Amino acid sequence: MDEEEELGLEAVRQWKEINQSPSTINRYSVKRVRRKLFREDPHCYWCGRITVLFDPPIGQRTPGDTATVDHIKDRRQVASVSEYRAPENVVLACYGCNKRRNDIEQDRRENKI
Ligand SMILES: [Zn+2]
Repeated sequence: MDEEEELGLEAVRQWKEINQSPSTINRYSVKRVRRKLFREDPHCYWCGRITVLFDPPIGQRTPGDTATVDHIKDRRQVASVSEYRAPENVVLACYGCNKRRNDIEQDRRENKI
């Protein structure tokens, strides 16, 4: 295992640990961050379209322009959770871009591209 991979795994481990603490979930509530980012600028960081604050009911398809919280660098590209969560790494993205980027990352990890 090379150093980069090890750092990535460490970041994931820390991430899981933090997310298992209910108080931390509250503090870092994704919804709160999303609302804050949306208020600052409702445009998608990647494609520039105006996003919509919307919570689709469970089982319902998420519209492509739904506002989501995205990270410029994913968990494997950062050395620590704090770097992952740093304000300069957190952006508002439309669901379409967020999903597409995750799919691309997934393909990369699986060496499909
Ligand atoms: Zn977008």
